[in-house]
Amino acid sequence: MKYVTEYRDAARVQATIAEIKKAVTRPWTLMEICGGQTHAIVRHGIDQLLPDEVELVHGPGCPVCVTPLELIDKALAIAARPDVIFTSYGDMLRVPGSSQDLFTVRANGGDARVVYSPLDAVKIAQENPDKEVVFFAIGFETTAPPNAMSVLQAQALGLTNYSVLVSHVCVPPAMHAILGSPLNRVQGFLAAGHVCAVMGYWEYPPIAERYQVPIVITGFEPLDIARGILETVKLLEAGEAKTANAYKRAVTLEGNQPAQKVINQVFELCNRKWRGIGTIPQSGWGLRPSFDAFNAETKFDVSGIAPEESPLCIAGQILQGLKKPHECSAFGSECTPENPLGATMVSAEGACAAYYKYGRHLILESANV
Ligand code: SF4
Repeated sequence: MKYVTEYRDAARVQATIAEIKKAVTRPWTLMEICGGQTHAIVRHGIDQLLPDEVELVHGPGCPVCVTPLELIDKALAIAARPDVIFTSYGDMLRVPGSSQDLFTVRANGGDARVVYSPLDAVKIAQENPDKEVVFFAIGFETTAPPNAMSVLQAQALGLTNYSVLVSHVCVPPAMHAILGSPLNRVQGFLAAGHVCAVMGYWEYPPIAERYQVPIVITGFEPLDIARGILETVKLLEAGEAKTANAYKRAVTLEGNQPAQKVINQVFELCNRKWRGIGTIPQSGWGLRPSFDAFNAETKFDVSGIAPEESPLCIAGQILQGLKKPHECSAFGSECTPENPLGATMVSAEGACAAYYKYGRHLILESANV
């Protein structure tokens, strides 16, 4: 196929769903890792088309959702300083910290700006030598290369007024954490195509082997997802714990090696706290000590922040595939996109926001699921 519209073709998707129905003989629980895939699944109703035997649970691959609350509070504290221009991708500005969000900081006179690239933030630093410019560097393997590149660019330009507030997370350690949990329900993974486009998928076969689960790399269009599910179900039915690439038009085994080189030049693996889940060893990237001059956490004194999550929020269980959004007692009442209690309701990629936006909770409730 040549055009992206062909991957949205309803007849092809229906035909693939029919193949899934033919292939499945017993119940299986699959997890799509990426929040973008969760939204595509709910938006296109793929979960509603699947046979009852195939259950999809939603994974932790939403960068906004897993950014710890204390880091958001640190961002708010830095952004409120009069000497700072705080820059971020747009969806982080709506995420509530303990008492406010970045939009509120801006309304109160803080200089918080949306940028489309960290290199735009570097440019702002060049143009404002009397200000400290901070970029909120969050995300998975997909955003790490440009974020690392911005640090190298600032260094090359000799800028001393640019820094990054880093909370990068990596997919494979999260898969280990989910599969190694005694509560795990996941029997097969749909891996995120864009992450694998950067990192390749050479890290996945040992995970598939160790936990005896198939892992299938998939894209984001409805046909990509349906084909990924079909491939996973076929492997499960055959008892094969293999890694398969169902997104060959974008992903190779070794990935984008220049991008990996830039990441490794600037970042090193570190223990990372995931919101709602807790600390996962060696699951994130932090700045290497040689780039400490660009570390916003070192530059600004923001230690001692220890916020508390809403006791109602079960986002951590949702992100591990243990619960679904509509099973949260606050869903749609205390917690809505207008007044979110947890990040999975705020983010465009969050599972709670997807269920709310597309009314999935109403369908499931009427079916008594
Ligand atoms: S509905 Fe709101 S409170 Fe409940 S899990 Fe989702 S984000 Fe948390």
